[in-house]
Amino acid sequence: MLFLSISSLATQAQDLLADQAPIDRKMKAVDSVALERIAQERFEKNFSENIYGSNWNTMNPFCYSSSSIPNTYKIDLRGFYIPVPNKKYAKVTSKFGYRPRFGRMHKGVDLKVYTGDTIYAAFDGKVRIKKYDANGYGYYLVLRHENGLETIYGHLSKQLVNINQVVKAGQPIGLGGNTGRSFGSHLHFETRIMGHPINPELLFNFAMRDVTNDFYVFNKTASQANYNKMASAGNKKATTSESASTNTGKHWYKVKAGESLPNIAKKLGVSVEQLCKQNNIKANTIVKAGRLLKY
Ligand SMILES: [Zn+2]
Repeated sequence: MLFLSISSLATQAQDLLADQAPIDRKMKAVDSVALERIAQERFEKNFSENIYGSNWNTMNPFCYSSSSIPNTYKIDLRGFYIPVPNKKYAKVTSKFGYRPRFGRMHKGVDLKVYTGDTIYAAFDGKVRIKKYDANGYGYYLVLRHENGLETIYGHLSKQLVNINQVVKAGQPIGLGGNTGRSFGSHLHFETRIMGHPINPELLFNFAMRDVTNDFYVFNKTASQANYNKMASAGNKKATTSESASTNTGKHWYKVKAGESLPNIAKKLGVSVEQLCKQNNIKANTIVKAGRLLKY
């Protein structure tokens, strides 16, 4: 397969060069710079012809309306490269689904990595977003792929690529970390189609470091229904088991830079008074970034 694609690329490259460089008709050999340029052009063409068309927003990670999501879409998963190194770390430490602890959906999976571990691009693609989100993803990247997926890599300690950079599957794109809303180093990994999150474990078997199948047929109605069911089932469960005050004091919150007690209380849905009591502090106590608060 590799040989075939390289040789067909070379043929295409020669054809294109024959068209584009009439001055040097005698040129027989294709030099590597030209080959690279042609690969880039082919990539750009395939890229612009997929479901996203010309929608290329490098500022907003979720710039799509749900109405533009195709009803069904066959996603080609061949060419997957697991984004985390070393077999023993390909461990899902937190699954896709509702998280009562935060009162919201976890829209990806967490994979165990250590700070400084290399993080790899899951497929060939192009870097769309490179940002920092203090209360969420931390340092993160969003890559768009030719197969219609976008992948998100969160809590990085370092981003190694730039916006608009074309990357190959398996290319190092960042280093694992613990930035943003994270408790311990891990990679938060999401797979989305036009902003709609798909459970990555439907696509990949992380323990086996492989795809679940060569293709995954995405069905918008089924996937949205499943997502809503998960979110509402979680909500119901949360209101029956977590609303009682007896359940407070079991969670920890790591203070972020610039946060005050009222901010934190509001974010966690508890009163400042409650936070003070639980942590043996006063309402005017200045809580430093990195401090753990019980709630
Ligand atoms: Zn996560």
